Amino acid sequence: MNDVAATRPMIQVQKVSKWFGDLRVLDEISFDVREGEVVVMVGPSGSGKSTLLRCINFLEEFQQGCIYVDGKPVGYRKGAEHGKRVRQSEAEISRLRMTAGMVFQNYNLFPHRTALDNVMMGPLMFHQRGKAEIRDECMALLEKVGLADKASAYPSRLSGGQQQRIAIARSLAMHPKVILFDEVTSALDPELVDEVLRTIRDLSKEGMTMIIVTHEMQFARDVADRLLFFYQGKILEDGNPREVFANPTTERFKAFVRRFSQGHLAAA
Ligand code: ADP
Ligand code: MG
Repeated sequence: MNDVAATRPMIQVQKVSKWFGDLRVLDEISFDVREGEVVVMVGPSGSGKSTLLRCINFLEEFQQGCIYVDGKPVGYRKGAEHGKRVRQSEAEISRLRMTAGMVFQNYNLFPHRTALDNVMMGPLMFHQRGKAEIRDECMALLEKVGLADKASAYPSRLSGGQQQRIAIARSLAMHPKVILFDEVTSALDPELVDEVLRTIRDLSKEGMTMIIVTHEMQFARDVADRLLFFYQGKILEDGNPREVFANPTTERFKAFVRRFSQGHLAAA
């Protein structure tokens, strides 16, 4: 956990609402994430967690509200006409995606590229630096996630935990200011979960700003500066994780934790 009280907001979500057809999946969501803060989001399946992360990275459009990453608006700017919002250019949107990296449940590595090539691809495409320099930096990132010896391995030869750590290195290679993790351990065999959580924990110690959607409650308690509980597109709990677990303010959260500990994740 970091001392973040005095830092500036790195992510600002202001009254964001989103509908899929008639279904409102985000209902006036508001919260800030400060620089260096680690925010964990929990909640039943379908409560809107992934959708919100995807909005922050503008992989999804949203109909109402504003999001800022590092002070810059996400997805839309005010148009000249009647202050109506207009979609940003694709160049602006891809700049945003470099500021906010995202790591998914299914690591999506390119199967015909080595681990190192997977990490180097983004910087080679977007960073104007020499290949040798990029290569050195990406090797250092593989080292950081404990996989320097796998640089020339293809993804199919790596365990799920190793592939996920490569995916984290790939995200770091773009020098993001924030990283959004969406259930990155959910597809892993139980014995591989810890190595990935350890990598995320190391990043938190270095002061990386992160939002982590997870079902790993112990990890949430240990690593998060703040815990948000989602339910039907709303945030019902927002606070220090130990305090929220010790003194939940809503019956919904109590029921979630109770069902969760009985293994009925999706039914809360
Ligand atoms: P969570 O990540 O908390 O499990 P999601 O953000 O994935 O929840 O989903 C929130 C709600 O939005 C769910 O009801 C889901 O079925 C719906 N949803 C998600 N993606 C789409 C989509 N592309 N089209 C229609 N509905 C969607
Ligand atoms: Mg999800």
